[in-house]
Amino acid sequence: MYLSKLFIPITKDLPTDAKIKSHQLMLRTGMIKQSSAGIYSWLPLGFKVMKKIEQIVREEQNFIGAQEMLMPTIQSSEIWKESGRYDDYGEEMLRIKDRQGREMLYGPTNEELITDVFRSSIKSYKSLPQLLYHIQWKFRDEIRPRFGVMRCKEFYMKDAYSFDLTDEEAKKSYNKMFYSYLKTFHRLGLKAIPMAADTGPIGGDLSHEFVILAETGESHIYADKKIFELDLKHYQLNDTSLQKMREDFTGIYAVTDEKYEKKEFDKNVKKENQMITKGIEVGHIFYFSDKYSKPMNCLIDDKDGKKTSVKMGSYGIGVSRLVGATIEANYNNNVMVWPKSISPFDVTILPSISKNNKENLEKAEKIYKELKKQNIDVLLDDVDENMSNKFKKHDLIGIPYQIIIGSKSEGDSFEFKELNSKSEILSLDKIKSKLKT
Ligand code: ATP
Ligand code: MG
Repeated sequence: MYLSKLFIPITKDLPTDAKIKSHQLMLRTGMIKQSSAGIYSWLPLGFKVMKKIEQIVREEQNFIGAQEMLMPTIQSSEIWKESGRYDDYGEEMLRIKDRQGREMLYGPTNEELITDVFRSSIKSYKSLPQLLYHIQWKFRDEIRPRFGVMRCKEFYMKDAYSFDLTDEEAKKSYNKMFYSYLKTFHRLGLKAIPMAADTGPIGGDLSHEFVILAETGESHIYADKKIFELDLKHYQLNDTSLQKMREDFTGIYAVTDEKYEKKEFDKNVKKENQMITKGIEVGHIFYFSDKYSKPMNCLIDDKDGKKTSVKMGSYGIGVSRLVGATIEANYNNNVMVWPKSISPFDVTILPSISKNNKENLEKAEKIYKELKKQNIDVLLDDVDENMSNKFKKHDLIGIPYQIIIGSKSEGDSFEFKELNSKSEILSLDKIKSKLKT
């Protein structure tokens, strides 16, 4: 993509109404545009990052055998009356009437809808287990939408649902998701800590929040640093290994302030390993057994032909929140630093251009074509502007690599810079292989 053609409305000044870095940077670099309180348009740069995150989430869901589907955003109130949550959910639910006066709502989550889909088609234990997910917009009329995409009214979420015959089987599905979440956040370049959580309005008896460390987070965290020594590579996708994984992770002390007690913390965690910090919740998983299947009459035949309520869990990841959360976890001074896996572009080419000298631009275009051929997603800054402005702009955008074409590049060698480190002069072949790793 040529920068001159990219729709990227960068603003000069820091937006005054944005309190946290990710919100400021996302507005400044034209990733999002507020449409009304807690509701945003995603502009090309922001949308590109969100789609990359979505794809990693999808791949890791598919890896554990979850199947993708798509449910609508608008739901009928009937199923929510069946589960009893129509009244319980309260003002966060956006309620709408259609022209026949039927009560509808914009889905804040999908437990009821998936239970309805499931009960109409699956009748026997032989079809279990099932893991289904979708990635879809949600609406919650948050009382105080804030921090840009971190707490919106309309947000993009991956929600998955598991269906099993017994509690024991259901815990295996839970462990798979636990594993998938840790892998997903790892691929996104994030350090996520699973924490035992309260189950809130979704209910149930087993629940973990996945929290990433960031000073601007809303959750206070008390944890043992040892949690970061655990390596997912030691676990495989089978029930025994995954049970061990969950025990290893949950055996290490990590709680949010709701569960924090100083005495417990001191007893369980060595002084030098104590970590008191803040974090952002990016995922939340629940096991709630027959909380919805029972009132909604979602029955299956067990091995003896007896009808029993299917055992369910639900598993959410805030895909749009992750865009902001990743910035919060990584920014450096005023500079955004994208992890390579989700950067809007792999590399940017910055030729020094002037009216009388188009030679650098021509070189840049040649390199651009070469890299494109290798499937490298490259941004070429073809705007006629001085280099110091260019650097400022690209630091702001945070693409991890730059190829600078100016006085230091000669023949087939070019200045190559990884963000936040010194540049080096490399041949195009070397650059290509660096970008490919
Ligand atoms: P929170 O405590 O932050 O309100 P929640 O417990 O209500 O979150 P869940 O219902 O578990 O959230 O939703 C799953 C995920 O969706 C959360 O972990 C979070 O990443 C994301 N999410 C929830 N509410 C919002 C929101 N208002 N804006 C953006 N993302 C959200
Ligand atoms: Mg909430």
